Amino acid sequence: MKDRYDVLVVGGGPGGAVAAETAAARGLSVCLVEKRPAIGTPVRCAEGIGREALREFIDPDPAWIAAEIKEASVVAPDGTELVLNAKLAGNKVGCVLERKIFDRELVRRAADAGADIAVKTTATGPVMADGAVRGAHLTGAVPQVGADVVIVADGVESRFARMCGIDTTVPASGMMTCAQYLMTGIDIAPERTVFTVGNTIAPQGYLWIFPKGERTANVGIGISGQKSGPGHRAKDYLDRYVRSHFPDGRSIEFIAGGVPVCRPPPSTTADGLMLVGDAARVVDPFTGGGIYNAMFTGRLAAEVASDCIAHGDLSGKALAAYDKKWRESEMGRSLARNYKLREYFIRQTDDRFNRLIHSAAKIDLDEFSVPELIREFVVRNPALLADLTAFRAALS
Ligand SMILES: Cc1cc2nc3c(=O)[nH]c(=O)nc-3n(C[C@H](O)[C@H](O)[C@H](O)COP(=O)(O)OP(=O)(O)OC[C@H]3O[C@@H](n4cnc5c(N)ncnc54)[C@H](O)[C@@H]3O)c2cc1C
Repeated sequence: MKDRYDVLVVGGGPGGAVAAETAAARGLSVCLVEKRPAIGTPVRCAEGIGREALREFIDPDPAWIAAEIKEASVVAPDGTELVLNAKLAGNKVGCVLERKIFDRELVRRAADAGADIAVKTTATGPVMADGAVRGAHLTGAVPQVGADVVIVADGVESRFARMCGIDTTVPASGMMTCAQYLMTGIDIAPERTVFTVGNTIAPQGYLWIFPKGERTANVGIGISGQKSGPGHRAKDYLDRYVRSHFPDGRSIEFIAGGVPVCRPPPSTTADGLMLVGDAARVVDPFTGGGIYNAMFTGRLAAEVASDCIAHGDLSGKALAAYDKKWRESEMGRSLARNYKLREYFIRQTDDRFNRLIHSAAKIDLDEFSVPELIREFVVRNPALLADLTAFRAALS
């Protein structure tokens, strides 16, 4: 490890790994620092990702795919199940990763492209010069590293970004608090992800079952931070569900974590600094999915950093091309849509969820295209038309 690089990447999750690989592949000198002693552990993720989204970055490999998913189902608060095939479920199907291996593979590829990797190395604060970020103070053998650009991929806590002066505070209403067991010995459909909604089951969130092979799955829950409190935390809801649905199952791993579903800060760049992934608050606010968005922003940040380094302009203004690009991308537009979708979703009562899912469950889904399905749905739920009209107006 040297004491100066073109690009320093803070954090070895998917966002940091793809940023480091992209920058190194463009011929830049790159160092990625990761505070944990091993990449990929502990996993704080349900590990689901769309197949096409994944292929944009890496060819799927059975070494890190725990399950291929063919369908998804949505379960109403009263237990009615609506099964969606791959065509209708869209990006909600794909695969369930083995992130311990997947994350390591992404970092291995960054190293292969020429990046230096330093594990068990924490970036404790920025090195500043004339108001610009010019590197980081580190724990470990090299106490300080200089860099033209620091790409911050330090995840949901995003402390480093805050130390650089970017306010990444998440209000309780914008944080999903999550708990998850890896369970085995449970009766599940091995190629189906299950999403259960309802305020008594998962207030302003949902409960998921993501299969990971025979009779094994990530069984987890995310609830709004503002609904969490003593006796009714995410783990309390999850334990209740597990006791009633999988009384004979065995939990072989437990994790807890937060998913930021708030809007991103007004700017994800500053002089010498770029934020990517969870640190940039680009998690999909409706699904809570952030792996793809982290890789997407990681790649884009590295591309823009490399152009700016080539032109010798590392000002926040020049790096802001990254901010503009991701907001205007399909990913950015889908985030903007999904904040509104989330606001609609969290206002629904259990009775409303039941009625919507009942009527959808009565439709022969295989016979309809998505637009026909929406039309049929409105015919069966006239009150929905007013909602959809208001919703459309809000989106425009
Ligand atoms: C319970 C749960 C379930 C989820 N399920 C899904 C899912 O099914 N699908 C999906 O797409 N997304 C899911 N997510 C979200 C997904 O895990 C994240 O969006 C994704 O990991 C973000 O990647 P990242 O690279 O931005 O950050 P992370 O993966 O969090 O990586 C950040 C890294 O930075 C390191 N770090 C932090 N601070 C420092 C520092 N100062 N110095 C050095 N290193 C540092 C951390 O140790 C960590 O390794 C889930 C999240 C949770 C909590």
